[in-house]
Amino acid sequence: MTDLLQTKWHRLGWQGIELTVPEEWNLGGIGGGQEEGYLRIQDAEMARVELKWATSTGFVNIDAAVDGYLKKIRQDRKQSKDMEIDTDASVVSKRKMRKKVLRGFSWRSDMHGLGAAWYCADCKRTFIAQVLTKPEEDGPALAERVLAGIKDHPTGGWLRWATYNFDAQVPEDFSLTARKLMAGHIQLTFKRDVAARTARSIMLQNLVVPEELTLARWGMAGTMLKNKTLQQWAADEMGTRLKRIKPELEPTETNGHEAVHVSATNLSLQGPLFRTIARFAEVPYADRIRGLIWHCPKSNSVHLVQMLIDYTNEQLLSEIASRFHCHSSEDAAD
Ligand SMILES: [Zn+2]
Ligand SMILES: [Zn+2]
Repeated sequence: MTDLLQTKWHRLGWQGIELTVPEEWNLGGIGGGQEEGYLRIQDAEMARVELKWATSTGFVNIDAAVDGYLKKIRQDRKQSKDMEIDTDASVVSKRKMRKKVLRGFSWRSDMHGLGAAWYCADCKRTFIAQVLTKPEEDGPALAERVLAGIKDHPTGGWLRWATYNFDAQVPEDFSLTARKLMAGHIQLTFKRDVAARTARSIMLQNLVVPEELTLARWGMAGTMLKNKTLQQWAADEMGTRLKRIKPELEPTETNGHEAVHVSATNLSLQGPLFRTIARFAEVPYADRIRGLIWHCPKSNSVHLVQMLIDYTNEQLLSEIASRFHCHSSEDAAD
């Protein structure tokens, strides 16, 4: 049995929530959005962390949240009789969590569940988080470390999206619209729809294409690039992604690695007219395709940042690429 407190831990991030957990624990389930949602983190065998949140308006009743949650656990585990429950356990301190309203709880059956519920006055949401541990593990120490490491809202305007060696940051006004979470390949797609958000006219919403951002990481770069240069691989990949649009590919360097810069313009027949209207209405007109693809030999991965953006936002490409982490100093040298 490995002592999880002694193993390597890593940072996970989703939808502006971040936490640090043992390296074998990763995102298993995701639901909802900023207002209300949940995350489930699991190891190879079982769920390890469950985190739920909901926007709270008016009076916040943390005690009722804990009671409701424990009632549900009792029902789910069908162990109402021989389950030991403590509805006011000291799992993590208010000081460590930097919260004024917080309550801990724990329960024990074949597993040991330890958690806390709190209200965050900054993001106006109520959270309930639980760490599941096995009887042979040091549950209280594990739970305290996981819970104390939770950051429940983003700071600085960037959201971190991190799991399974994928570790990126995206400006917070881009929302997630699609995701692929596979063992060797993770891809997240985001949109920033200024025209829709500010409730501008329907006409404007119809002609303005939202800005779009795609971030992807492939593991096993060695296999992917076995008989191809990065430039050839990038040409094939971009061909599939852009279909009829032919991009220009230029060799460059990103995060200290060999890279390919991608650029193209996505202009329809009515493009010039729509673009003029969008400029006049001061909304972004997303007609520039810009991308960076780089190979990180240290982590044996290929990374892609692809954007469809307004020409005034082109600098975002290098900002996002520099925040898309590919290797750490601990990774083996190439
Ligand atoms: Zn918060
Ligand atoms: Zn790297």
